[in-house]
Amino acid sequence: MNIMHKKLGLKCGIEIHQQLEGKKLFCSCPTILRDDEPDFTINRKLRASAGESGKIDVAAAQEQLRNKMFVYQGYHNSTCLVETDSEPPHEINQDALYTSLQFCQILKSHISPVIQVMRKIVVDGSNTSGFQRTALIGRGGSIGTSEGKVGIANISLEEDSCKIVSESAHEKIYRLDRLGIPLIEIGTEPDITSPEQCVETAKKLGMLLRSLPGVKRGLGTIRQDVNVSIKGGTRIEIKGAQDLRQIPLLVELEMKRQLELLNLKEILKGRKLNKLQIVDLTNMFSQCPSAIVKNCVKNKGKILGMKLEGFAGLVGKELQPNYRLGTEFSARAKIKAGVGGVFHSDEMPNYGISIKDAEDVKKELKCTKSDAFILVAAEEFRGRIALEAVYERAGELWLGVPKEVRKAQPDATSRYMRPMPGASRMYPETDVPLIRPIKNITLPELLDAKIGRFVKQYKLGQDLSTLIVKSGRAELFEELSEKYKEIKPAFIADILTGILVEIRRKYDCNPDVLTEDDFREILGYLAEDKIHKDIMLDVLIDKINGTFSIEKYASLSTEKLHAVIKRIVEGNSNAPIGALMGICMKELAGKASGKFISSELQKIMMKGHK
Ligand SMILES: [Zn+2]
Repeated sequence: MNIMHKKLGLKCGIEIHQQLEGKKLFCSCPTILRDDEPDFTINRKLRASAGESGKIDVAAAQEQLRNKMFVYQGYHNSTCLVETDSEPPHEINQDALYTSLQFCQILKSHISPVIQVMRKIVVDGSNTSGFQRTALIGRGGSIGTSEGKVGIANISLEEDSCKIVSESAHEKIYRLDRLGIPLIEIGTEPDITSPEQCVETAKKLGMLLRSLPGVKRGLGTIRQDVNVSIKGGTRIEIKGAQDLRQIPLLVELEMKRQLELLNLKEILKGRKLNKLQIVDLTNMFSQCPSAIVKNCVKNKGKILGMKLEGFAGLVGKELQPNYRLGTEFSARAKIKAGVGGVFHSDEMPNYGISIKDAEDVKKELKCTKSDAFILVAAEEFRGRIALEAVYERAGELWLGVPKEVRKAQPDATSRYMRPMPGASRMYPETDVPLIRPIKNITLPELLDAKIGRFVKQYKLGQDLSTLIVKSGRAELFEELSEKYKEIKPAFIADILTGILVEIRRKYDCNPDVLTEDDFREILGYLAEDKIHKDIMLDVLIDKINGTFSIEKYASLSTEKLHAVIKRIVEGNSNAPIGALMGICMKELAGKASGKFISSELQKIMMKGHK
């Protein structure tokens, strides 16, 4: 463990969401994601309702404030009335339930004797119903890492949300294809103490998940969230890490942000936040050339400003690379008010606002040298909510690190997303009966064990064995290796992994279109010597492009090859057959198998001797 991480008291937990394959969790629609034009759209507005405890959840209430229209796009043949919340949920998907039970067993989690499906309030529109169905399946258990055990807090089975298509200030467009896809959610205890251990834990959990036959594979089927806190800081949930490689930097940068916020808390100690006073500065900006300002005035918006006493120099303070306290303020305003952002005095002159404009604003807001100001250009009600949000965030600086959920950015910094949801977010789903999980669960072979077995049984190298097992084609590999004993298993594994990678990289072809039957067909020809192993790459490319026909390869091997071999024989009249064979093989490399060349050669020589 890194000394610095230990000194700072880094604590991390991760949450993994893995999609399952097959049918949706509460209806029989397929778990297919689509990019084609939707068949229909429906419009909804959502309202937050009180949870079990009678309180409206903070996160839910905040979203409702924004009063957005939600538009849902669906398909007649792959979404149904359950996704649009026009019909109650059907019985829980037994296959998905079984997969989640298997996973509990693998991690030695204690499975709940009775499973209650709950509704978790989500009012960002990502669920048509305004809630997400989730069921706690198991608690406890652990996973080993090189830096010690990491405890498992919970394993749940839940519905995936809608995929967002686009968002504007008034409208969010979602697609229904992803809604309801079963997800296994695994949350660890905050036992992780280094960024590297965080990645190792995520990798191990991912590997165990992929051991299960019911798990969806490929890009976007697994998502990781990270929880980070340091001593004196707060547990911050960061959603949507792009991939595993981003996690260490994401953790490091969140540590830095919390450290900087704790430093700011020290700086502000003994000071007080001035009273909130929002001033309309629109008239002052009537001549300002800034495009943002002009646009705002043209749309009958206002330029509003407020003073933050003693904040000069602080607003521009960097919390993460290229991420200042001003950016933190701006992100809060964007989410809470739906504005494009705010300006602050530490970044002036900028955005077409001159030093002179800034000086005038300072005068108008009665700022001294040590004070900062915040400006916003928007519709008046939005502008006011935006500045109130900034003011609220400024007030939280006295607390250090405020509890919140953040969203990871491509550069591994993060932005405010919403407040940390409270317990009032959940209440029982009474449309689904209680579930008593079955007791006898059989486990599949774990991937690590399978890799070891392939090395021994099929004489694959460790790397190739890992590749084929992780590729998701291990079953097909075993089937083909058993069926075609005359082909080396390592070559079959290479066809199913390395050659496909080469095709994707070098030939701009998408090997994902190849089906298991395509491989069965091609391997069959290979076993019958109808195609040569050296031309496998061309055969696969033809198959991908839909231009493959065995006749094409067969015709190549009769007429053309015959002519070439004949020419070689005639040009080397005194050469022994072994030497001729060598020349033929060299010239025809990849065009035909040795067996075919040898038999053609013999035929031609027999004729020649007649
Ligand atoms: Zn459905």
